[in-house]
Amino acid sequence: MDLGITGKRALVTAASKGLGRGCAEALAAAGVDLVINARGAEALEATAAHLRGFGVNVVTVCGDITSDAGLQAVLAAAAGVDILVTNAGGPPPGSWENWTKADYLKAIEANMLTPIALMTALMPAMIAKGWGRVVNITSQSVKAPIPQLGLSNAARAGLTGFVGGTSRQVAPYGVTINNLLPGIHDTDRATALDAGIVATRGITAAAARAERCATIPARRYGTASEFGATCAFLCSQHAGYIVGQNILLDGGAMNATL
Ligand code: NAP
Repeated sequence: MDLGITGKRALVTAASKGLGRGCAEALAAAGVDLVINARGAEALEATAAHLRGFGVNVVTVCGDITSDAGLQAVLAAAAGVDILVTNAGGPPPGSWENWTKADYLKAIEANMLTPIALMTALMPAMIAKGWGRVVNITSQSVKAPIPQLGLSNAARAGLTGFVGGTSRQVAPYGVTINNLLPGIHDTDRATALDAGIVATRGITAAAARAERCATIPARRYGTASEFGATCAFLCSQHAGYIVGQNILLDGGAMNATL
């Protein structure tokens, strides 16, 4: 399917690996020029070189997107983009008895205030052009809270509330905002969470993964490329009537009729 976005320009934050990289790759395959960001220069440049193989322009901005300096550097490179995909690392697992106000503030900064700052800065130009697409990578924890990821449950709920209201305010100007909610996907983040189970339960990594796969009706982890393809569709010309939605990509893990 021709997504109709060849020649558009996109920013994907936290995009050197995993789901962000999957989104950047699917957009590059659709002919979209990219600004991509991550903290580690080596993986970021390797990803940029790979993306340039699709024949698109790729600008890299190395830095922490949750810091003021990182955010400003990214915004300077991404002024006027047509498409914004927000992403950042997820908060660490733990338990409610141990989290401090500082832990909550860090999670809120990364997974709520940073995407809101990116949207606030970049949507006015989209509105002026009468066309724009925003996709926020959030989590299945927005719909079905994960007890050990309470920091994520809390911060992402705030972002989801912001998107629920704001998406209806920008839709009249041809700008859509939607959230993609990953269930378990085969990335470094999933491997790190598997390792946490290994450490606390004393089972092998293979057993931890098999246990988690057994909770998913699709009986496997999702892939970054199928996640990216869904993101690219939401950024396409065909998705202009999809507004303010929270789209779960979880292999059926959340057991719900609606
Ligand atoms: P990942 O494989 O660990 O990749 C994270 C990417 O983001 C890397 O490129 C990393 O590069 C970059 N990054 C992390 N923190 C950053 C920061 N502060 N500033 C700039 N770049 C940063 O993670 P993932 O699995 O793709 O997860 C992406 C998001 O989806 C996370 O918020 C995660 O919590 C959420 N999620 C993932 C899953 C899953 O199963 N994978 C499920 C639910 C939700 P550098 O480290 O070099 O910066």
